[in-house]
Amino acid sequence: MTKVLIWNEFLHEVENNDVKSIYPNGIHYCIKEFLSNDKSLKIETATLREKNNGITEERLKDCNVLIWWGHKAHNEVLQETVNLVQRRVLEGMGLIVLHSGHHSKVFKQLMGTNCNLTWREYGEKERVWICNPGHPICEGLNPYFELEMEEMYGEPFQVPSPDETIFTSWFEGGETFRSGLLYKRGNGQIFYFRPGHEAYPTYHDQNIQKIILNAVHYVKEVSKNIWKDNHSPTPTSNRPNPIENISKKGFSVGHPTKK
Ligand code: ZN
Repeated sequence: MTKVLIWNEFLHEVENNDVKSIYPNGIHYCIKEFLSNDKSLKIETATLREKNNGITEERLKDCNVLIWWGHKAHNEVLQETVNLVQRRVLEGMGLIVLHSGHHSKVFKQLMGTNCNLTWREYGEKERVWICNPGHPICEGLNPYFELEMEEMYGEPFQVPSPDETIFTSWFEGGETFRSGLLYKRGNGQIFYFRPGHEAYPTYHDQNIQKIILNAVHYVKEVSKNIWKDNHSPTPTSNRPNPIENISKKGFSVGHPTKK
């Protein structure tokens, strides 16, 4: 069984009737609904305004894949939540960051850059190109597909160079963007996937649904989910006794915290 936790800010769908008409129960519910066709997945959801942002150590302990959608309230996410998610990714939890999650604290902390980009909300056509048809995330897709209405995201996207670029997008207005990026952090696999503006029915699109489902299986497969009570599969520790017989040279300044 693969445990998937879908996290959604869940504010636009409550506050804006137009968004609500596209996602009556929230983006997280829509994603849960189409993923639920896969009976190998055990799917739960969490939202921003729940206690501890709906995320606890217990919930993430056996979580294989966390999906993250956030936009207008990134700064309301608790630093404890961000640190916990980062720790679990390093330990081997898979993470899928969607659309405006590029500016989430979680993604920025894992990337180490500001993750800025250019954007325009104009309901323009997006043509998504598949960069590697042989990749498991691209399984079942044509060489490209189109979304009739999307928000434009354009380069420069200020993220570190990815391990692999899976999708690129062209927009009606002329810009291009790296839309599907893979990053390994510690034992965890991260997939950033661009489409998914709240004002358009992107998550009802079959290609988008296929990609998110493929990605869930892929990041789960590649991540090595390790849970240790000391929370550190790769501990940092002094090793005063070398394996080989060596004689000490020079002098030691010592560790500042050790007395
Ligand atoms: Zn957006």
